[in-house]
Amino acid sequence: MTDVYCSLQEANTARQKEWDVDNQITLAYRGNELAGEVGEACNVIKKLERERMGIRGSRDTVEHLAEELADVEICNGLIAMQAGIDLDAAVVAKFNATSEKMGLKTRMALRDPAPSTQQPVDQIEDLAKWLHNETDHPEHCPGYAWPENEHDDGRRAGGWVKIVPKYAQEYFRDIARRMFAGPLAGWEPRL
Ligand SMILES: [Mg+2]
Repeated sequence: MTDVYCSLQEANTARQKEWDVDNQITLAYRGNELAGEVGEACNVIKKLERERMGIRGSRDTVEHLAEELADVEICNGLIAMQAGIDLDAAVVAKFNATSEKMGLKTRMALRDPAPSTQQPVDQIEDLAKWLHNETDHPEHCPGYAWPENEHDDGRRAGGWVKIVPKYAQEYFRDIARRMFAGPLAGWEPRL
């Protein structure tokens, strides 16, 4: 049986739980991994250039370059995942900041935003927390606590708890918004 995901972030998160069962991989490991994949892509580019210039030596293909660029993209996503960065949002913000700085009119927007809903924020928050804590959703982070407020850093009486990473919080809020806009439209919690 296979699990299929439509976004790289979701697929990377799920696969790493299979691949690195003891969660040993560090950010430094990921940095080396990215550098390695960039090097592999550059080596293919060198060979394509070699062919273009008619210089002696081994050759390579654009299809192989596509594979190596895909590896780079996947590694980028893994680093973002590890650092708790929403890479899609970061790319849009950076792209638009550069356009602004250079006086260019082209802008990006996040694809397929969650449908708008008039549902109160606290109901979205409650549903997102419930989905994270009480379901077997593959994105849930076992052993991590849902934040009690937006400034919750995990400090508790007598110690600390690990807070669900921001990208995962946003993931579950997005599901909650979609549920309130679709199957739960008009639903009111019973008091
Ligand atoms: Mg590679």
